Amino acid sequence: MTYIIALDGPSGSGKSTIAQKLSDRLGIEYLNTGSMYRAVTKYFLDNEIKEIDLDKIIKNLENIQIDFNEGAIFLNGDDVSKEIRSDIVTKNVSWVSANEDVRRKLVDMQRQIAQNTSFILDGRDIGTVVFPNAKYKFFLTASPRVRAMRRFEQNESSLSLDELEKSIIARDEYDSSRETSPLRKAEDAHLIDNSDLNIEETIEAILNMMDGEDVI
Ligand code: C5P
Repeated sequence: MTYIIALDGPSGSGKSTIAQKLSDRLGIEYLNTGSMYRAVTKYFLDNEIKEIDLDKIIKNLENIQIDFNEGAIFLNGDDVSKEIRSDIVTKNVSWVSANEDVRRKLVDMQRQIAQNTSFILDGRDIGTVVFPNAKYKFFLTASPRVRAMRRFEQNESSLSLDELEKSIIARDEYDSSRETSPLRKAEDAHLIDNSDLNIEETIEAILNMMDGEDVI
């Protein structure tokens, strides 16, 4: 039997590292949905499409092809894995992901990619919207300071620790208060606050909540 693990939570909660390791540990596929919103953001920035250009957004969505290969993400054939982590993409991704047409396209893609195979997906709305019937749902969180520290240590940003903390709080607020698919814990998701847990301990907590038959 195939199954879905929905792993949601705010930025810096460790979702993608944990999802990646769990997919290796369980021998299932992994999809990082945030990278898809980031790829669309890069496309809009490259093509000077702004938040208010609603018609242009709809038209251009047809021209956006996203593919994955061996952990890398491709936007219309180009590997953009590195560029989508830039500060400018991070700064703009919230308005892009608040757009209903963008969400419709990406949610459809996510459902198609993860059909018929066991998958772990990380994001903001996997347990609430994309796969509300997922067999397993987890909502990871940690204090803003701890999350900023993790991002700081990843060395992907030129921001200071305090600036990163501010930007994380701002993005949380934006993601939680948007009308379409806000960031929120599904009622039936397990809440894991990993402020005081390392990656391995968080993975252990998740594995302990799964059925023995799936944890082989
Ligand atoms: O996970 P990551 O921080 O890379 O996601 C970037 C942004 O993409 C989030 O801040 C959020 O605005 C958006 N996102 C989303 N729904 C998802 C995944 C990400 O709205 N399922």
